[in-house]
Amino acid sequence: MTYENLLADLTEKQVTLVAVSKTKPVQMISELYARGQRIFGENRVQEMVEKHEALPKDIQWHMIGHLQKNKVKYMASFVSMVHSVDNLSLLHTLEKQAAQHARSIDILLQIKIASEDSKSGWDYAALREDIKSIDAPHLRIRGVMGMATFTDEQSQVRTEFAALKSYHTELKAHFDPDCFDTISMGMSGDYHIAIEEGSTMVRIGSLLFGAR
Ligand SMILES: *Cc1c(COP(=O)(O)O)cnc(C)c1O
Repeated sequence: MTYENLLADLTEKQVTLVAVSKTKPVQMISELYARGQRIFGENRVQEMVEKHEALPKDIQWHMIGHLQKNKVKYMASFVSMVHSVDNLSLLHTLEKQAAQHARSIDILLQIKIASEDSKSGWDYAALREDIKSIDAPHLRIRGVMGMATFTDEQSQVRTEFAALKSYHTELKAHFDPDCFDTISMGMSGDYHIAIEEGSTMVRIGSLLFGAR
C-alpha cells in the first residue's frame, strides 16, 4: 500500500488521514510531509514536542495516546487536536491551558468500546452524566474517538465501531452540531471496517511507516 493509493481511497470516501508517526524518526515524517501529508499523530508528549521543534510548523500534531494532566502544558501552545480526552479533569486542564495560550484546541471524547480492560476511554454512561459539567469555551469539542478490541473476530470489531457511531449521533445533540463532526476510528488493521461503520478520521501507523 503506497501513501498515494491510501490517500486517494480515503479522499474519495471523505475520510481524514492521521499518519501515526510514533517511534518513527523525523526523517520518515519529512518524507511523508514532502508527499503532502500534514496531519501526524503521536502518543507521547515528549516525543511530539521534539518532533514539533524539528519539523515544519504547518504540521498539525494530533495527540492520540493516553495523556496525563501534568503533561498538557508542554504541548498546549501547538497541539492541533487531542483524541484521547477521557475524563473531566483532563478536559478542564486542557481548557485552562488553551485559555492561557489564548487559543482554541480541538478535542475528541475518547469512549471505551473494546471489551479489553487495557483500552482506555470514557465509560459511555459516565460520560452522559459528565457532559452536564463541561465548561470549556477554549475547546472545540469535535466528536468522538474509540479503539476496537484487538481480535480476529471481525463481527466484534464491527459491532464496537457501530456503537461508537451511535454514541456520536446521540452526543451531537448536546454539542454544537456544526462542530461535532468527527468520528476517529480505524487503524492499520481495521480501518476498512471502521469506514464502513461511519469513520470520518483514521489513525494509521504501521501500514504507512512499517512495523514498530
Ligand atoms: C499506534 C496507534 C495507532 C496506529 O496503529 P497502527 O496499527 O500502527 O496503524 C492508532 N491509534 C492509536 C491510539 C495508537 O496508539
